Amino acid sequence: MSYNEEYNSDPVYFCENCYSLYIKHDDFLDADYCAKCGCSNIGCTDIKDWEKLYENRYKRKLVTRAGDPNVIKVYGMTWKEIKQFICDSPRWESIVCRMYPHLRNRYGRADTLMMFFDLVTRQNRINELKDILVKYIV
Ligand SMILES: [Zn+2]
Repeated sequence: MSYNEEYNSDPVYFCENCYSLYIKHDDFLDADYCAKCGCSNIGCTDIKDWEKLYENRYKRKLVTRAGDPNVIKVYGMTWKEIKQFICDSPRWESIVCRMYPHLRNRYGRADTLMMFFDLVTRQNRINELKDILVKYIV
Protein backbone atom coordinates (compact mmCIF):
# COMPACT_ATOMS: atom_id res chain seq x y z
CA MET A 1 0.00 0.00 0.00
CA SER A 2 1.42 3.38 -0.96
CA TYR A 3 1.55 6.27 1.42
CA ASN A 4 -1.35 7.92 -0.37
CA GLU A 5 -3.61 4.90 -0.27
CA GLU A 6 -2.87 4.52 3.38
CA TYR A 7 -3.54 8.18 3.94
CA ASN A 8 -6.83 8.05 2.00
CA SER A 9 -8.24 5.42 4.30
CA ASP A 10 -7.46 7.39 7.45
CA PRO A 11 -10.65 8.56 9.13
CA VAL A 12 -11.46 12.27 8.95
CA TYR A 13 -13.85 13.97 11.34
CA PHE A 14 -16.16 16.59 9.94
CA CYS A 15 -19.12 18.73 10.94
CA GLU A 16 -22.37 17.21 9.69
CA ASN A 17 -23.94 20.64 9.53
CA CYS A 18 -21.42 22.69 7.49
CA TYR A 19 -18.89 19.97 6.51
CA SER A 20 -15.98 21.84 8.03
CA LEU A 21 -12.96 19.79 9.09
CA TYR A 22 -12.18 22.26 11.80
CA ILE A 23 -13.29 20.13 14.74
CA LYS A 24 -12.35 20.96 18.28
CA HIS A 25 -12.70 19.18 21.57
CA ASP A 26 -14.50 20.72 24.52
CA ASP A 27 -12.68 19.42 27.60
CA PHE A 28 -15.37 20.60 29.96
CA LEU A 29 -18.20 18.78 28.18
CA ASP A 30 -15.83 16.09 26.90
CA ALA A 31 -17.39 16.40 23.45
CA ASP A 32 -16.30 17.37 19.96
CA TYR A 33 -17.78 20.36 18.21
CA CYS A 34 -17.38 22.31 15.00
CA ALA A 35 -15.26 25.40 15.54
CA LYS A 36 -16.94 27.06 12.57
CA CYS A 37 -20.65 26.73 13.32
CA GLY A 38 -20.69 25.24 16.81
CA CYS A 39 -22.60 22.13 15.75
CA SER A 40 -21.85 19.03 17.81
CA ASN A 41 -22.95 16.44 15.25
CA ILE A 42 -19.59 15.18 14.11
CA GLY A 43 -19.38 12.58 11.37
CA CYS A 44 -16.53 10.31 10.50
CA THR A 45 -15.57 9.20 7.01
CA ASP A 46 -12.50 9.03 4.78
CA ILE A 47 -11.09 11.94 2.82
CA LYS A 48 -12.51 10.84 -0.54
CA ASP A 49 -16.09 10.54 0.72
CA TRP A 50 -15.76 13.80 2.55
CA GLU A 51 -14.60 15.50 -0.65
CA LYS A 52 -17.66 14.13 -2.47
CA LEU A 53 -19.98 15.43 0.24
CA TYR A 54 -18.32 18.82 0.16
CA GLU A 55 -18.49 19.05 -3.63
CA ASN A 56 -22.13 18.03 -3.83
CA ARG A 57 -23.08 20.60 -1.27
CA TYR A 58 -20.98 23.59 -2.29
CA LYS A 59 -20.74 22.79 -6.00
CA ARG A 60 -17.04 23.38 -6.01
CA LYS A 61 -14.00 21.33 -5.32
CA LEU A 62 -12.12 22.27 -2.24
CA VAL A 63 -8.85 21.14 -3.76
CA THR A 64 -7.85 19.69 -7.05
CA ARG A 65 -5.38 17.20 -5.63
CA ALA A 66 -7.58 14.57 -4.03
CA GLY A 67 -6.43 13.17 -0.74
CA ASP A 68 -3.71 15.74 -0.21
CA PRO A 69 -2.60 15.57 3.43
CA ASN A 70 -1.82 19.28 3.33
CA VAL A 71 -5.50 20.05 2.93
CA ILE A 72 -6.35 18.52 6.27
CA LYS A 73 -3.42 20.33 7.81
CA VAL A 74 -4.42 23.74 6.49
CA TYR A 75 -8.13 23.33 7.14
CA GLY A 76 -7.44 22.22 10.69
CA MET A 77 -5.48 25.36 11.46
CA THR A 78 -6.90 28.19 13.51
CA TRP A 79 -6.67 31.74 12.17
CA LYS A 80 -3.93 32.40 14.73
CA GLU A 81 -1.95 29.41 13.45
CA ILE A 82 -2.42 30.52 9.87
CA LYS A 83 -1.06 33.97 10.67
CA GLN A 84 1.88 32.41 12.48
CA PHE A 85 2.59 30.12 9.54
CA ILE A 86 2.63 33.01 7.07
CA CYS A 87 4.81 35.15 9.36
CA ASP A 88 7.32 32.32 9.68
CA SER A 89 7.29 31.41 6.01
CA PRO A 90 10.24 32.56 3.89
CA ARG A 91 7.69 32.82 1.07
CA TRP A 92 5.31 35.14 2.92
CA GLU A 93 5.56 37.77 0.20
CA SER A 94 4.56 35.34 -2.51
CA ILE A 95 1.52 34.26 -0.48
CA VAL A 96 0.50 37.89 0.10
CA CYS A 97 0.93 38.85 -3.57
CA ARG A 98 -1.16 35.97 -4.83
CA MET A 99 -4.15 37.65 -3.24
CA TYR A 100 -3.10 41.28 -3.17
CA PRO A 101 -0.45 42.02 -5.82
CA HIS A 102 -0.62 45.74 -5.05
CA LEU A 103 0.99 45.14 -1.66
CA ARG A 104 4.26 44.03 -3.26
CA ASN A 105 7.34 46.06 -2.27
CA ARG A 106 5.37 48.96 -0.91
CA TYR A 107 5.71 48.70 2.82
CA GLY A 108 7.92 46.87 5.28
CA ARG A 109 7.30 43.24 6.20
CA ALA A 110 5.41 43.90 9.44
CA ASP A 111 3.12 46.52 7.89
CA THR A 112 2.47 44.44 4.80
CA LEU A 113 1.48 41.42 6.88
CA MET A 114 -0.70 43.50 9.14
CA MET A 115 -2.55 44.97 6.15
CA PHE A 116 -2.79 41.58 4.53
CA PHE A 117 -4.39 39.88 7.55
CA ASP A 118 -6.73 42.81 7.95
CA LEU A 119 -7.84 42.67 4.30
CA VAL A 120 -8.35 38.90 4.36
CA THR A 121 -10.58 39.01 7.42
CA ARG A 122 -12.51 42.11 6.38
CA GLN A 123 -13.18 40.75 2.88
CA ASN A 124 -13.96 37.31 4.25
CA ARG A 125 -11.35 35.58 2.07
CA ILE A 126 -9.98 33.14 4.64
CA ASN A 127 -11.11 30.06 2.72
CA GLU A 128 -9.49 31.37 -0.42
CA LEU A 129 -6.30 31.92 1.53
CA LYS A 130 -6.47 28.36 2.84
CA ASP A 131 -6.72 27.01 -0.71
CA ILE A 132 -3.57 28.96 -1.53
CA LEU A 133 -1.73 27.85 1.60
CA VAL A 134 -2.19 24.19 0.69
CA LYS A 135 0.47 24.76 -1.96
CA TYR A 136 2.89 26.33 0.51
CA ILE A 137 2.89 23.70 3.23
CA VAL A 138 5.64 21.17 2.85
ZN1 LIG B 1 -20.00 23.20 11.31
